[in-house]
Amino acid sequence: MMAVYFQIPHADKDQAKALGARWSTELELWYAATDIVAGRLAERWKQATPPTPLDTFPGEDRAFGQATRLYVDMIPSSCWLTNVRSSVSADDWKQISLGVKQRAHRHCEVCHAPADNANKVFLEAHERFEYVNGVQVLRRLVCLCSKCHGATHYGHATAKGQEQEARAHLMHINGWNSAELEAHIRSAYALWSSRSFQQWGLDLSILTAAGVQVRLPSQDERLRQGVDLSALRT
Ligand SMILES: [Zn+2]
Repeated sequence: MMAVYFQIPHADKDQAKALGARWSTELELWYAATDIVAGRLAERWKQATPPTPLDTFPGEDRAFGQATRLYVDMIPSSCWLTNVRSSVSADDWKQISLGVKQRAHRHCEVCHAPADNANKVFLEAHERFEYVNGVQVLRRLVCLCSKCHGATHYGHATAKGQEQEARAHLMHINGWNSAELEAHIRSAYALWSSRSFQQWGLDLSILTAAGVQVRLPSQDERLRQGVDLSALRT
């Protein structure tokens, strides 16, 4: 029989496994490989339509942002909430992130590590933007492991108490000494700060060109979630 996929919440995974469910790494979904298992799972969970991974984004520059192997690239505070994840549907985000991971053969595109669930290293799709002429332009999607992703969003890692891991990983991947690390972090914060003083337009055209519907949050919606742009220059 064909595999039958199910929407099984993470909290139910042990129960599902005990009933014979299997995990598809490719599609990141639980499935039944036999009718008997499908029948058991159907008693508790809804079936899922398997997503079609999306891995081609016309106009994408897959070499963008490779001058330094791993670098701190913090999102300006004036751009918070205008990321891909909050601008596309949950289903589209699933297709995009699966496609980005699959085309990277499920390895981090910076440090080349695979996922290592036991050590809580996962693969994630990350957005690389260019900030040019008042517009935040999505140039590329890249598959990163959670260590590289954490170092990239250094401010966020610091807020979560993961600053030391992020620093160690940046030094390790780039072969930096601590002076080189400090200089890099200082300039990344200076860039972040100067970018955070202005409003930015958003260009997600590599997604719309791939047929993805993009819906940007309004200024009101952003304000309700704490992003106040009223004092910033446009
Ligand atoms: Zn990595």
